[in-house]
Amino acid sequence: AASGGARYLAGLNTEQRDAVETLDGPVLVLAGAGTGKTRVLTTRIAHILSQGRARPGEILSVTFTNKAAREMKTRLAEMLGQAVEGMPWLGTFHSIAGRILRSHAELVQLKSNFTVLDVDDQIRLLKQLLQAENIDDKRWPARMLAGLIDGWKNRGLMPSQVPPGEAAVFGNGKGGKLYASYQERLKILNAADFGDLLLENIRLFREHPDVLRQYQSRFKFILVDEYQDTNVAQYLWLRLLSQAPSSGSSLPGSPRPSIASSEDGSPALDAARRPGDDDKSVAVAGPAPKNICCVGDDDQSIYGWRGAEVDNILRFEHDFPGAKVIRLERNYRSTAHILAAASHLITHNEGRLGKTLRTEDVEGEKVTVTGAWDSEEEARGIGEEIEELQRKGEPLNDIAILVRASYQMREFEDRFVTLGLPYRVIGGPRFYERAEIRDALAYLRVINSPADDLAFERIINVPKRGLGDATVQMLHDHARKRRIPLFEAARAVVETDELKPKARGSLRGLILQFERWRTQREVTPHTELAEIVLDESGYTEMWQKDRSADAAGRLDNLKELIRSMEEFENLHGFLEHISLVMDREGAADEDAVSLMTLHSAKGLEFDNVFLPGWEEGLFPSQRTLDEQGRAGLEEERRLAHVGLTRARRRAKIYFATNRRIHGTWTTTIPSRFLDELPADSVEITESKGGSGWGGAGGYGPSRFDNVESFGSSYSTPGWQRAQARRPASRGASEGGFQEEPSPFAGRDPFGGSFGGPFGR
Ligand code: ATP
Ligand code: MG
Repeated sequence: AASGGARYLAGLNTEQRDAVETLDGPVLVLAGAGTGKTRVLTTRIAHILSQGRARPGEILSVTFTNKAAREMKTRLAEMLGQAVEGMPWLGTFHSIAGRILRSHAELVQLKSNFTVLDVDDQIRLLKQLLQAENIDDKRWPARMLAGLIDGWKNRGLMPSQVPPGEAAVFGNGKGGKLYASYQERLKILNAADFGDLLLENIRLFREHPDVLRQYQSRFKFILVDEYQDTNVAQYLWLRLLSQAPSSGSSLPGSPRPSIASSEDGSPALDAARRPGDDDKSVAVAGPAPKNICCVGDDDQSIYGWRGAEVDNILRFEHDFPGAKVIRLERNYRSTAHILAAASHLITHNEGRLGKTLRTEDVEGEKVTVTGAWDSEEEARGIGEEIEELQRKGEPLNDIAILVRASYQMREFEDRFVTLGLPYRVIGGPRFYERAEIRDALAYLRVINSPADDLAFERIINVPKRGLGDATVQMLHDHARKRRIPLFEAARAVVETDELKPKARGSLRGLILQFERWRTQREVTPHTELAEIVLDESGYTEMWQKDRSADAAGRLDNLKELIRSMEEFENLHGFLEHISLVMDREGAADEDAVSLMTLHSAKGLEFDNVFLPGWEEGLFPSQRTLDEQGRAGLEEERRLAHVGLTRARRRAKIYFATNRRIHGTWTTTIPSRFLDELPADSVEITESKGGSGWGGAGGYGPSRFDNVESFGSSYSTPGWQRAQARRPASRGASEGGFQEEPSPFAGRDPFGGSFGGPFGR
């Protein structure tokens, strides 16, 4: 066999090889999906190591998800054919920044064992602060503040740097002050939130140039994947690290970082630099530019709504003078038809760099587009196609369903449970595990079985009704002593004077409500009952009043839950089904279909990809349709492009003629993106799950219109026609999907309720 070097380099094309072997100076690989960008990064690490240019600990490699980091580690070990001694710093921005922060925690007023707060902790803390400031949490919800703070953190803004106008939008002008006291409280609690991992790390570097220099000299090579989706904080952090270590004074003639003179006039960017800092710690272009290699694709920038700045990639050459820009044009992932469909679709965007992509792969199967009567038929159709693939010997691991909005998953999960098809949800909780669904189910469980203590405890104070921990503790003591369920204990306790009058009244009210619901259950259909319960308990209202970014998505999920109950005869049957679904936690290595949002699918690939829900108002989402300007729509189109380019051999698009959006049945219009696909690479097929083309006779005219539009697409943009046909009723009602919070919600932590990948 050849030397180790030849082995891992073999098979790379000329440009890839160039990107791997150009170790000195800044390198930008700007290339389309499936061209081997990630593979180049991994190979580059192998090359650096086998050339002895750096030890593992001197390499910093940033991936988009923890999963991607794990995969990179595995591939690296394979390439080198041996275990590497020590490991590169390989992980997400947050995990690496967190690791650095821990080693120097005391310099930013933390201890090295600081805790990282999850979203719930964060909200609880903010609520306390709101209380202390006498700010009405109903009018100014803590979640909204959390969204604002995250947005600021994503932009690298410390409290003192938040533009006053922005700080004023919350709590009658108290937003900035609250942010400041939140940061103070975190220090007292020896805690950091997700955004702090980066922000405090940046502060550490700024305030302690010696520490920064230490890392600047440690990291001889920096590699970044998915560079198009870095936000300002990540960008600042990278710039600090990628600067050649110097004695601390800037060099004459070194260009000022473009970020400071940013032509977009964003005060945020300027404010992100501390006054007096000058070029000392931010100047990036020293005499010996760092060996930094970033790879990305402007056509796959899909996190703009969360603060990512595609401009970062566009100004790379400016930020890193002398950068070598390498383009990769051969796609190794997809068949010709799939690539043609994806490439053609994205040409409808205006703001792009543009690039050529070719494949030497076979033509393969055309992209199929299938119309279904409704979302249920869509799920049935996809279920059948999957079973057919399975019969042909396709492993389930090679099959993925990529949805636009997380609520779409529910129907598939139910279908898979019915079929007994193993599946896993990537990047987020499964539908029935979402917090709001568990809350709603808890109410129903208590109605179904008063002895369900866990359920009762879950909702006793949700929404808030003055029954805090102390009350619950007291009920527990009671229950334990008498060996009775919590609910029984509550019933007994309200007859005594053990509780303060207010709590007692509140608890009594709750008990009476449950008793009434139980009686109603005998005469009311269970779906209706569920609606009544969520209304009367104040649970729905809690989310309606919540102004946070994900509240609308949660309300959608609740509606979807009620919809899912329709398929069952009664409450008991439904809850039994749920317990089965919940029980089915497959092993990690099980052969299973993957279910995830389009956002979570970035960087991944599957032989067979199903893309359901291509309808106006869902994909592109209603929010982007209502928005002024093309930016949102173009991001949706990039998302469609990402979806299609995940497929290696088969891409199967579905749309439903009827879908329940936000609780009401709507006749939908096929997505404009369908009109934007090239007719030659697309095949219209018949839904396997339904009654067929001529069957029920219920197919709306839009379906046939759509068929015709494939031939005629490009003269009259299909979306204009679609626009004209849009029912007026679908206007402003949209509240956004879960993956798509308001502009304020720059929540990076994927641990929250968004559909994005975890652990970024
Ligand atoms: P994305 O933009 O979707 O993240 P990417 O540019 O990172 O895509 P990779 O995931 O690195 O692309 O590569 C896509 C697929 O092509 C992978 O299966 C990879 O192993 C394969 N591949 C890349 N380069 C080559 C090559 N030179 N020869 C054979 N296969 C290759
Ligand atoms: Mg990649």
